[in-house]
Formats: sequence, structure tokens, C-alpha cells
Amino acid sequence: MLETKYITIAPEDYAKRQEFAGLSGDRNVPVVVKSLFETVMISGRQQIKYRNLEAVRYARKWCSQKMNSCGVYFQKGKWSDCAHFLSHCLHKGGITIKRESEPNECQDNLSVRVTEIVKVLTELSEMYQNIIPISYDEGVWGDPAYLEALHLRPSHAVLIHSTRNVVGQPDKRETLYYAHSYERCGTKGDLEWYQNFGGAFRIYDAK
Ligand SMILES: [Zn+2]
Repeated sequence: MLETKYITIAPEDYAKRQEFAGLSGDRNVPVVVKSLFETVMISGRQQIKYRNLEAVRYARKWCSQKMNSCGVYFQKGKWSDCAHFLSHCLHKGGITIKRESEPNECQDNLSVRVTEIVKVLTELSEMYQNIIPISYDEGVWGDPAYLEALHLRPSHAVLIHSTRNVVGQPDKRETLYYAHSYERCGTKGDLEWYQNFGGAFRIYDAK
């Protein structure tokens, strides 16, 4: 069954974040984001239909290209393609997050804002058991994750590629990422990321 959920980011709720994230348009108008997904009953509990491998396959295919399946790549001014790329990954997995309250260059109308993706996944996690907010360093293969600049706003979005032991330091692990932009395909994050870790989501498969 296809479900649709609208979330409204109220001005008072997100004014501060909008200011930093640069959500365009009138700041007094709530931002409306639509998410579409299918649900499935598992053990008597409703879950969002999701296939992690499909999200990872999208990431693997497009991570090295300055392009997405919709034919658009954001790279101008303050825009970067990170949220747009993650929206496409999630869309392939089964969770479609659409921004329809302003003109959107993405041909699939997918969200191009990290703040929106985090807000929608947080709301879905409150309703469905197979989406769980986790800390950034708990992330594993296929988990969407985000950074928070100055711990004020979600500022960068990635899909986790893998984790591995640090050579010569068996008690330490490091995480590798798929991301736009810059194109990361199993690449380490930048050093400053360590001061800006936000959070991540575990989305368990339900099919
Ligand atoms: Zn797109």
C-alpha cells in the first residue's frame, strides 16, 4: 500500500536552521515536504518497505559521477549535490522524499536539502520500527548519515560505504563514505568532519 505523509517545517521550529541552511523563499511560510513509501506488515507490525541494497547500488553506480539518474547535478553558488544524491539513494531503497513547495530542478522532484531529509527520516522513525536514529559512529554499510555544522543544522549528507579497522590501531575503526560532492566512493571523510558529526539512521530491510 502506498502511503503519503506530508511534513511541515514550521517557521518558528526551523527559523534558525533555515537561516543557516538557506532554505529559500519566504521564511514566514512553512516548508512542506512530501514523503512517499510503501508499507508492509511483518509480524503484525507495519514497516516501511525498504531494500538497503538498492540504495547502495545507486550510490555505487553514481558516486564517481558529477551526475544523477535524473540528469541533474547541483553545483553552483551555495548549492552542493550531497542531499540530492542521498535523496536518490533513499528513493531507490523505497523512501521517496519530495520537495514540491518550490521549483525544483531535480526531474524527480526529490529533496535537495539535508534538513528536510533528516526531518522526514526522524518523523518516520517515530512511526515505523524499521527506521532507527543512531549515532554517527554506530553507522554501518548503507546507513544514511549527516553532519551538523556547529551542531546547529544538518549540513552534509552521506551514505555509509563501510567501516574498517585502522591500520596499526586495532582498537580503532574508521568509516568510509559514498557522497556527492566531492565524489566519494568508499572514501574517508575530511578531518573537520570529526568535529561535526551529526547522526545517522539504521533502516532495516522490509520487503
Ligand atoms: Zn534528482
